[in-house]
Amino acid sequence: MSVVEKNKEDDNKIRECWIQNVCGHDKHAKLKPKEIYDFIIVGAGTAGCVLARELIHCIPDINILVLEAGGPDADNNGLINLPCAIFKNFTLNDHDWGYVTQEQRMPSSVDPTKEILKNGSPFIRGKVWGGSSSLNAMIYMRGQAKEYNDWAAQGPEYKIWDWDHCLEAFKAVEKNSRNNPDETFKKFHGFNGLLHVQDSQNGVYDIMSGVIDAAKNLGIPHNDDFNGERQNGVGIYQFTMKDGRRCSLAESYLKDALKKIELNPDPKYDSFGKVTAVDVRSFAHVLNIIWDEKNKEENIAIGVRYFRNGNVREAFIAPKGEVILCGGAINSPQILMLSGIGPKENLESNDIKVRKQLPVGRNLLDHPCCGIVAKSTPNAILHWSNGCEIGIIHKANGEGKIPCKDDFFDESPDIQIIATPYQDGFLNPSIELYRKKHNKFDGLIIVPFLNIPSSVGYLELGSNNPFDQPKIYLNFFEKSDDFYRMISSLKLCREILKQPPLSTVYDVKEIGINDEFGQWCTNGDDMSDEDWERFLLNKTTSFHPCGTVKMAPESQDGVVNHRLQVYGTKNLRVVDASIFPYIPSGNTNAPTAMVAWRASQLIIEDYMGKC
Ligand SMILES: Cc1cc2nc3c(=O)[nH]c(=O)nc-3n(C[C@H](O)[C@H](O)[C@H](O)COP(=O)(O)OP(=O)(O)OC[C@H]3O[C@@H](n4cnc5c(N)ncnc54)[C@H](O)[C@@H]3O)c2cc1C
Repeated sequence: MSVVEKNKEDDNKIRECWIQNVCGHDKHAKLKPKEIYDFIIVGAGTAGCVLARELIHCIPDINILVLEAGGPDADNNGLINLPCAIFKNFTLNDHDWGYVTQEQRMPSSVDPTKEILKNGSPFIRGKVWGGSSSLNAMIYMRGQAKEYNDWAAQGPEYKIWDWDHCLEAFKAVEKNSRNNPDETFKKFHGFNGLLHVQDSQNGVYDIMSGVIDAAKNLGIPHNDDFNGERQNGVGIYQFTMKDGRRCSLAESYLKDALKKIELNPDPKYDSFGKVTAVDVRSFAHVLNIIWDEKNKEENIAIGVRYFRNGNVREAFIAPKGEVILCGGAINSPQILMLSGIGPKENLESNDIKVRKQLPVGRNLLDHPCCGIVAKSTPNAILHWSNGCEIGIIHKANGEGKIPCKDDFFDESPDIQIIATPYQDGFLNPSIELYRKKHNKFDGLIIVPFLNIPSSVGYLELGSNNPFDQPKIYLNFFEKSDDFYRMISSLKLCREILKQPPLSTVYDVKEIGINDEFGQWCTNGDDMSDEDWERFLLNKTTSFHPCGTVKMAPESQDGVVNHRLQVYGTKNLRVVDASIFPYIPSGNTNAPTAMVAWRASQLIIEDYMGKC
């Protein structure tokens, strides 16, 4: 039987043939000169793409290696760019790291003498060009100015992260296509960056207009720009899309970076000279950092070790160069820990030599979320829409009561609701459960995110195997105020669903809580706190992890300084969502791109300053 004929035994034979073959190639690779680059960027996600583009275009005569564990994006998978396919995209194993959070036992928020068990849940992370920006829901949000001013309040040198500096960076990245923007809109938005941001293409689903009217009935003010002067209110989101298609950071920034190619004859390199370009290696999984073993005390990064095509390879940096980790909030801390930077106990228990003890992985922040599902009259499908069209941003009530009118006008809202239509056949794993019970139905899902959580999670290594998942402990609702604020918003969502025109024109009826399937509800409409706690048990994350490589003074549990350099090391920075000291009150793609743009300015300054 031919080796390519498919059966289980042959799978192994094919693997063996492949291994023999790549090992043969490796003998030749060893005779080749070392791979040397001015910058090695680990991860072509949101941050890595922005950084690669800014550095290659702003610094003359450099070369950059980008190592990405996943493959090319839309060129390989057309679904990525289709907004209406986002929920299908969430299930694409090829482009996801496949993480699952840890099951956790913790005291109940309602009765702390009792223990509750929270199941682990899938934790999507993009493993593809563009990283999570190639899979995300495309909502364009920045959070509130106050949060960035808190970043800056950590010391005089942190001023470079205050709102004015961050706003400049947000605008530099953004290319907003709003029609006839007024002066206020122009003050807050950028129009010349590469990341396309647009209003919903060709309007919104009918039923979504119904959500706006229902919210207004309850006194929630209208907001036509969640990234403008105030964040609160009800309105339609803007999206990182161009002409109705996804605009990931790979599409906008990486592809522009690849346009710059110059050949400079330079005998120092090799007979071909130096190529000024960004070299993206796909399917290249970075294992750890290579340190200069001659200067053990100083922890000088000189390159990285990575796995590709069955072989372990090494790439090195040139004398003024740097290794920059852009692996995201789960993987950057993992790579640091595998390289000996992290909490002593966790490293030693995994047989990793500690080079620098730092609280890597400790400050895991995320936005918990929880959806209510309702049936409605049939929805018409809109192919250009990702569904997540309507936002309602409000202040929660700390005692778990329905928010009052003042809460809708509060200038520091802590809840962001996303309303999305549901159509039978429109894949959405979060409502699979209801679908099984109710057969076919159209409807909507209304999902509050707790945007300013008090609970803080952590992650740690489970082993020193770079291909193992780190252990992720989200600690959601560990602090009881998080629980009460979340149920306050869920109660508001139920009120919204009861309002006209949802209840009248669209015949909206909540399912999943107050129906025969609603096993959580013991007393009709009137859910007790215990019922709500049970309802929330298996609810999930909004996939906005950050903070695990915290930018802060070392004395305040910082891992990187204000210029994003790792304490106690040289030539090593981290630039991605992991450096956020506090979580922004909004989705995290735009803030990550903003951080990468600011970081590019710092790196360019430092590089140009080196003689
Ligand atoms: C399902 C989902 C929905 C979301 N919805 C929104 C939304 O609507 N709006 C919004 O603003 N934000 C949203 N987000 C969040 C946002 O996309 C992320 O916060 C942002 O993309 C994070 O950027 P990053 O650069 O930190 O990491 P990522 O974009 O995840 O990039 C990390 C990259 O590094 C690569 N990498 C990791 N480890 C290695 C290694 N060892 N070797 C080589 N490469 C490696 C990864 O493969 C990946 O490409 C969503 C996220 C998800 C997952």
